[in-house]
Amino acid sequence: MINREHDGLARRGIGMTSQRTRERLIQRLYEEGLSNAHVLEVIRRTPRHLFVDEALAHRAYEDTALPIGHNQTISQPYMVGRMTELLLAAGPLDKVLEIGTGSGYQTAVLAQLVERVFSVERIQGLQDRAKERLLELELRNVVFRWGDGWEGWPALAPYNGIIVTAAASTVPQALLDQLAPGGRLVIPVGSGVEQQLLLIVREEHGFSRHVLDAVRFVPLLNGPLA
Ligand code: SAH
Repeated sequence: MINREHDGLARRGIGMTSQRTRERLIQRLYEEGLSNAHVLEVIRRTPRHLFVDEALAHRAYEDTALPIGHNQTISQPYMVGRMTELLLAAGPLDKVLEIGTGSGYQTAVLAQLVERVFSVERIQGLQDRAKERLLELELRNVVFRWGDGWEGWPALAPYNGIIVTAAASTVPQALLDQLAPGGRLVIPVGSGVEQQLLLIVREEHGFSRHVLDAVRFVPLLNGPLA
């Protein structure tokens, strides 16, 4: 279900970039295989140009990753949609943990599709900007933590879904520990150019593990950074 109360978001988006450019992006994502109508609708209404520097705003509706400073990137819309679809594929989720807030774009998409989002970022400057953007868009069901994503957010565990938007060298044990029964973890794993998107589901006994697409993310680093 799309949360209907987020009207501020639709208002803010209107007129700031051409609606046609956005429709083209949605059409392209659909052709590339995204199929969850709720997810596509949320991407259509989320003003991605507010999540990048003004100088790059004209490229915000291209299906590419873009720089957001601090050597980080805003994820490609296709990948945001793909990971969100994987997370939601077994039904609606109430508590979702996100590792790697970055610009807050993926956070904003999630916030419109699940009950509550808990988002961890190690670079405080990025987190501060992301917080401002989500407030501006009246997305209030998100809480932020400055910290090391390798540790997850144990105090508020367990989570029905966990999404990691940076590539981990191995699957962090803390994240497995913090998955609720039936919970789903979507995470890119690998180093350099050899990365794969994994879906890990907490079953009654142990975990099932599905190896999906070859992907390219910035690395999941160690420890918080001011
Ligand atoms: N979903 C974000 C993607 C940002 S890129 C967006 O669309 O904007 C990945 C993010 O992960 C970066 O902001 C980076 O600082 C963060 N990151 C990397 N290692 C981390 C760690 N150990 N803990 C928390 N965040 C981390």
